[in-house]
Amino acid sequence: MSAETETAALRRKGRIVVVGASLAGLRAAETLRAEGFTGSLTIVGDERYEPYDRPPLSKQVLLGRVRAEGTALPRRRDVDATWRLGVTAAGLDREAGRVRLDSGEDLAYDRLLIATGARSRPWFHPDQAALDGVFLLRTRDDAARLYRKLAARPRRVLVVGAGFAGSEVASACRELGLEVTVAERGPAPLVGALGGVVASVATRLHRRNGVDLRCGVTVTGLEGDLAGRLRRAHLSDGSSVDVDVALISLGATRNTEWLAGSGVAAGPRGIACDAGCRVFDVNGIVIDDIYAAGDVARSPHPLFGYQFLSLEHWGNAVEQAGIAAHNMVSAGPDRRPHLWLPRFWSCAFGVNIKSAGVPTLGDRMVIAQGALADDRFVAVYGYRGRVIAAVSFNGGRWLGFYEEQIEAAAPFPPPYRSVDRRTEGQEPVDPGFPPPGLPSHSATVTLTGHSPDERRVEFVAPRA
Ligand code: FAD
Repeated sequence: MSAETETAALRRKGRIVVVGASLAGLRAAETLRAEGFTGSLTIVGDERYEPYDRPPLSKQVLLGRVRAEGTALPRRRDVDATWRLGVTAAGLDREAGRVRLDSGEDLAYDRLLIATGARSRPWFHPDQAALDGVFLLRTRDDAARLYRKLAARPRRVLVVGAGFAGSEVASACRELGLEVTVAERGPAPLVGALGGVVASVATRLHRRNGVDLRCGVTVTGLEGDLAGRLRRAHLSDGSSVDVDVALISLGATRNTEWLAGSGVAAGPRGIACDAGCRVFDVNGIVIDDIYAAGDVARSPHPLFGYQFLSLEHWGNAVEQAGIAAHNMVSAGPDRRPHLWLPRFWSCAFGVNIKSAGVPTLGDRMVIAQGALADDRFVAVYGYRGRVIAAVSFNGGRWLGFYEEQIEAAAPFPPPYRSVDRRTEGQEPVDPGFPPPGLPSHSATVTLTGHSPDERRVEFVAPRA
């Protein structure tokens, strides 16, 4: 069969099931239809809502500028799908080609897309996590609850973990005029994602905006009153803080447990897939009819030595979902690779932060435009003499140039003169990443090695 005939057949018929009804799931469904898939399409999502956008949840929603219910993702086209919302995929039987649902039903598929994303890491002590006033922030419901609590003007808010999300929430609280304490295990906010040099600016931003920032400490316990309301937090330096609200912002873990026993190479860091988004089994063999996209997927990238990249980036979910969907309805020669350059944005304390590439890989760093002291700069990161990442604070317009440098694996330090006089003469320095053993908030882009499987390889006896 020619590739053209095969592609036409893949588009005409078959049953596609998408598990995960959020950004990646929706964008994949739209691409499948846009590419002419006319078979049956079922989208399974454990949340009760149609796909909505998460970035506003830690920004505009907390400030009351957008309602949590007002975050539905815009539809780019009709997807003509059967939506199974409020239903959880509980298991996968690859041999039978069926997804088991928690309702007890089975869904048969010819091709399956896994887009189950990630969830917030919970507070380690379940009784303390259940106190009234202790929050995670991943879902629309989380954001609605936190918004209501903040609107009731708590005495003080504690943010546990100063990564991007924690910093955004601290910023929103200050904008609302609320007292905030931020507790961070590392030496500075954002240090695990951007390194100590850039994180020194984040420290200044927190303090200048009135955040009670405590670094190098952990929260050892949350204490409630007799009515089960949060009242106090205890810190590892022996101090305690009276708080009514605690936002636990300790990073995310991938939603892969439902795949246990399926033989798919899935673990807490995600599902390993090839550059075409087809998932690996635990023995490193590509599975032809199962694909993954979005936060749940990790895939190899040539710019980073073909290590599996694990991302929590909005843009990656959109891009990878589009590639996965295209490949699901295309014959081999028509398939495309997912070679997206990691790009991320955040904003806190009036500063727009953008990141491209993988900063955490950097062994050297130079301020290429602007100045740290002005909170307006581009930091360019090098690895073994080539440009591998760039981060801008209020300098997004400069970033495109460095994205091209990353994609071209250009030499580091960049041989171009700064357009900004204040930056001239800057020498590369150590970016100041904490040692890998120091647990801190995690970066939103991480290299997860070359092994498709995080666990022991299972040797399957060949069939007689
Ligand atoms: P998700 O959005 O996690 O969706 C996965 C869906 O699958 C969820 O609805 C989940 O409940 C469902 N699911 C899980 N398991 C099952 C199962 N077994 N059965 C059925 N359904 C299941 N990115 C940026 O680039 N910039 C930002 O500023 C930014 N801000 C953010 C702020 C917040 C508060 C959060 C939470 C994320 C932010 N992100 C940001 C990250 C971005 O939102 C994610 O990268 C994106 O949502 C990933 O989309 P996804 O579809 O892969 O996964």
